[in-house]
Amino acid sequence: MTQLPLRAQLASALGRSAATLSRMTGRGDGSVIGGRVGLLLEPDLLRKLARDRKLALVSATNGKTTTTRLITSALLELGEVATNAFGANMPAGHVSALSQHKRAPYGVLEVDEKYLPEVLDTTGAGVVCLMNLSRDQMDRAAEIWLLAQKWRRALSGKPTHVIANCDDPLVTWGASTAAKVTWVAGGQRWKEDSWCCPECGGPLDRKDADWACRECTFHRPEPQWVVDDDAAIDPRGQRWLLDIQLPGQANRSNAVMALAVAEAFGLPVEQALPRLREVTSVAGRYTTVERDGRHARLLLAKNPAGWLEAFDVADPQLPIILSVNAQGPDGRDTSWLWDVDYRILRGRPVFVTGQRRLDLALRLDVAEVPFTLCESFNEALAMQPPGRVDVIANYTAFQQIRSEFGRAV
Ligand SMILES: [Zn+2]
Repeated sequence: MTQLPLRAQLASALGRSAATLSRMTGRGDGSVIGGRVGLLLEPDLLRKLARDRKLALVSATNGKTTTTRLITSALLELGEVATNAFGANMPAGHVSALSQHKRAPYGVLEVDEKYLPEVLDTTGAGVVCLMNLSRDQMDRAAEIWLLAQKWRRALSGKPTHVIANCDDPLVTWGASTAAKVTWVAGGQRWKEDSWCCPECGGPLDRKDADWACRECTFHRPEPQWVVDDDAAIDPRGQRWLLDIQLPGQANRSNAVMALAVAEAFGLPVEQALPRLREVTSVAGRYTTVERDGRHARLLLAKNPAGWLEAFDVADPQLPIILSVNAQGPDGRDTSWLWDVDYRILRGRPVFVTGQRRLDLALRLDVAEVPFTLCESFNEALAMQPPGRVDVIANYTAFQQIRSEFGRAV
């Protein structure tokens, strides 16, 4: 790799020092502050750090942290990989990730949906992985149709190879201006944000996995990769049993996206797949924490689509603790609680906690799901008999539980 210019080297080094200081003083993992310092000194730092590397950008409403991790794990087979493993998914986080692995020939960057156009322009990434778009953080995020439109503009005219989920009509539309697209039939559990054609506004007709606009030519492209229950079918028709450790259908879909990205980097399935099987938890998700004989498995759900994925993973035989907060990173507006169908929880012991426990309690009451209201997570955990329990929490609720149990990764 070519040397960075002196100014960029200095900016990068100072950013790393700031990150170290931030970690030492207990202000977090430092990945954002370090990148901010670097960008302040050298606004063009991200472009310079990205040059000469083979990069993949990963964006979606749900699953981007996990898929970033899976792709990273696979590409380690080829060499050193720079990545923003802890979800710092805006440019400062990208600068920090690339600074920390200056010589890594590969980079896998999770990118906030809104920042994807800017980060793609700046880094010139060769591969972009797009998985799903649905309502999220209702008081902060842009209308998702506008996001998809921005993706279209950003991808148009670039040589980028896009790996996209063709079961999500909005993602398909967002990706379809790209010069080269590999379509993955990754499934779509949450359909409430894609009943209309993004091209003309007409109704979308669905038949099994297939979909097509009734009024224009927009339709589901033919997939090269298919997620078929617990297996991947590759573009040559070969079936691969996934057998990954991360639970649930959403993660099997993430894994197949990762296999398609790995192949775009020249890495065949037989080399990539064993690496995906090594991943057991991602930034604390799916981790089990233990106290007094109670083993609580932590599931993160930040928006309606995420709750459906968490329900798919949760064991119907077990009690379940739900914790909902409404701090900045969660979005202050929790009206989305009304979009989730909680009836699936009927018949399980349900415990409700978090800042917005009363909102959730009302929602469950309307859905006729019996529950126990708890002042805190600790109280809810203490009410469990010894054994296993599932926990679904939104962002800051999840982080609180993690930090209390020593941030098990
Ligand atoms: Zn249409």
